[in-house]
This record gives sequence, structure tokens and C-alpha cells, in this order.
Amino acid sequence: MIINCFLHNKKPINLLHENLDFFFFGKKKISFGICPKCGHIFQSQTISRRELNIHYKKMQLHIDNLGKPSVQKKEVYKGICQLLNMKCLIFQNLC
Ligand SMILES: [Zn+2]
Repeated sequence: MIINCFLHNKKPINLLHENLDFFFFGKKKISFGICPKCGHIFQSQTISRRELNIHYKKMQLHIDNLGKPSVQKKEVYKGICQLLNMKCLIFQNLC
């Protein structure tokens, strides 16, 4: 998804881009650009709004919904807990 300057709706001049491996999204191209009118530097290419919406719907925790969570949601949280536990162990070993 290409993003224009939010002030002028101008297409940015790309400064740099990276292909990053995102948790849940896989490899995505991310770019940073500068507005040719005002000089605002911003993330000009990112994950699509559609992909973000799908991701957040999967990740969303409904504390007011007391129904049983889906298998998919349980797997997502299980993965997050494993990742956090791993990061905590790494941090503990550094201390
Ligand atoms: Zn601008």
C-alpha cells in the first residue's frame, strides 16, 4: 500500500526501502519517502489496510465476549505466549 503525504496528498519521493520479514505477514516491502512540497518524511509503503484488518480481527481480544475463543485465536495467542517466553528467557540470560 502506497501512502501519500497526509498534509498535501502528494506522492512521496522514495528515500529507501527494505524487504522485512514480519511476524504474521511474512516478507513485505517497506519504504520511506519525503513529501516534495513540505519535506515531511514518512513510511510511504506499508502493509495493505486489508491485510492489517484481517490481522487485527484475528488478534482482537473480546473481553466483553464471554464465548469460547476460536481454535485459530487460541493458536495465535499460544504463538504470542511462546514468543514472549522466549524473549523473557533471553533477557534473563543477559542479566
Ligand atoms: Zn507534504
